[in-house]
Amino acid sequence: MDVPTYSAEDAPIPTGEVVIERASTAQDLGPRLNRTAADVVRFLLTNGEMVTATQSLTDDMIEMFAAEIGAEIKLVDPGEEQEVELRKLLEFEDEDDDDIVDTWPSRPPVITVMGHVDHGKTLLLDKIRSANVVDGEAGGITQHIGAYQIERNGRTMTFLDTPGHEAFTSMRARGADVTDIVVLVVAADDGVMPQTLEALDHAKAAEVPIIVAINKMDREGADPQRVMTQLSERELVPEAWGGETIMVPLSAMTGEGIDDLIENLFLLAELEDLRATPEGRAAGSVLEAHLDIGRGPVATVLVERGTLNVGDPLVSGAAWGRVRALVNDQGERVESALPSTPVQVLGLNEVAEAGDSFVIAPNEKLASKVADTREHWQRLASLGRDASATSGGAKLEDIFKQIQAGEAATLNLIVKADVNGSLEAVCDSLKKRERDDVKLAFVLRGVGGITENDVQLAAASNATILGFNVRPDRKARELAEQEKVEIRNYEIIYKLLEDIENAMLGLLEPEYEEVVTGEAEVREIFRVPRVGSIAGCMVTNGTITRGSKVRFLRDGTIIWKGSIQSLKRFKEDAQEVSAGFECGIGLSDFQDLKEGDIIETYEEREIPRE
Ligand code: GDP
Repeated sequence: MDVPTYSAEDAPIPTGEVVIERASTAQDLGPRLNRTAADVVRFLLTNGEMVTATQSLTDDMIEMFAAEIGAEIKLVDPGEEQEVELRKLLEFEDEDDDDIVDTWPSRPPVITVMGHVDHGKTLLLDKIRSANVVDGEAGGITQHIGAYQIERNGRTMTFLDTPGHEAFTSMRARGADVTDIVVLVVAADDGVMPQTLEALDHAKAAEVPIIVAINKMDREGADPQRVMTQLSERELVPEAWGGETIMVPLSAMTGEGIDDLIENLFLLAELEDLRATPEGRAAGSVLEAHLDIGRGPVATVLVERGTLNVGDPLVSGAAWGRVRALVNDQGERVESALPSTPVQVLGLNEVAEAGDSFVIAPNEKLASKVADTREHWQRLASLGRDASATSGGAKLEDIFKQIQAGEAATLNLIVKADVNGSLEAVCDSLKKRERDDVKLAFVLRGVGGITENDVQLAAASNATILGFNVRPDRKARELAEQEKVEIRNYEIIYKLLEDIENAMLGLLEPEYEEVVTGEAEVREIFRVPRVGSIAGCMVTNGTITRGSKVRFLRDGTIIWKGSIQSLKRFKEDAQEVSAGFECGIGLSDFQDLKEGDIIETYEEREIPRE
């Protein structure tokens, strides 16, 4: 390698702005600025920062060094330049060509319902949806996948069924402008309220046409005139008064006026002249994503162009996979989905992020390459952020010492949970427990089991890992032991919060540690009459002992806990079976086994406090 031998005194600094990636090491940074790694390390040392040449630097350190030598730099997230290249591999040629776009067929409009809390958004969405279920059709079974479609006289319309402007705005913040028309719901008896105005601002910012639904017309005290006056003051002048805004009085309760609203939505959509090609590779946005115990990562996507088919190689952010199945809003499996259609996608390798775009790659190899490259850079980026967020951070058991020492303490956390909902709940509740003298820094929050990568990140950032309804896999556990990373697992939210509060008070109770004693992989399922299911297993680690406590993991998520009822080697009962041997395991009351599930046996031992 070409190592410059300049030292701080004699080399010219580069002219102009130098792009530096976050989390660069002294070894990366020095040469970019015509300095050596040693120059960087020496400088930081004189400023009280001890780093090695190969350790990721914080933003502050990089900026300090650049300022010292007078270089002009711009910090970017690692992977930004690579991302531009990746996008080129997947982009469509016709997208910006108006001549082509004008020839595309029209597509259904996508509608978002917004308004003040309790003004009837949810009821309206439910009513519109249930009115669409033809009597007897599919027994009226519908599935909430985050969006649905209705049909009238051969025309189709799509509703996003997460009401409210937070969802709308967070999608937009991530670049997903999927909404074509906003329905602003205002209760006729309550009038314009703070969130009505907020919703209005968000819709205006997005430059999306608005139709006003004046709801609760069945209520005594309903005063549509007042609503119209209030909105006119906000530049929404009703058509009836010579303005341009369609306002439809209705009742989500009785259903009166809903047809009128839908008819007006179709009319407005026609004026908007919405078009998309059904040809070629699909692309669109992720509306919602979670980890489903039985089905693995599930993403609800909205197709915005092309046709999405089963078998297509889909990539969204760092998630990718061949589409294994598509499920529509009626809960039916479908083979394909056209523009403006919401569908659940099964078969991705990890949980996608709501608001991210997705695209079908020209081939599977490219899809995996793009996703893997992004994954790599995302890890690095979080290392950089993390290095900044966590300088001076501490682990759970040390936090009280820091507080006592009068230092402003930061507790670094990595939170992993089984689904997005519980992840948010855990993080929000934790955030509320922050104190003036103890800050909580989330180095990473994610959905899914605790992996080796998480442990690496925790080790690098001095963080504690909190798992909610998830467990570390074996590699993660081994690495945690080696790196002395603390992993705490919880199934009850208040217990988790209590531990964090106690840690801040220096009151952590004697802890019981779960020691995993054995691990087996389910290879085959046998159904035995009158006995139930027996799992044919290979013991992969430790020893499986009859009667011991056991839990089942699928994709790192706990799906069942209980104890082993029977243990057999060939046909014989066995007391214990060690690693490397096959065995049959029967469980008391759990039948829903699958090949590939992991059976873990464990003991609880008290950990002596130091
Ligand atoms: P959201 O918070 O905007 O989603 O409001 P909801 O749809 O949950 O409605 C709030 C309350 O108002 C519920 O108790 C509904 O039953 C009631 N509600 C909604 N629409 C109407 C309506 O048109 N008439 C009457 N009388 N009640 C309604």
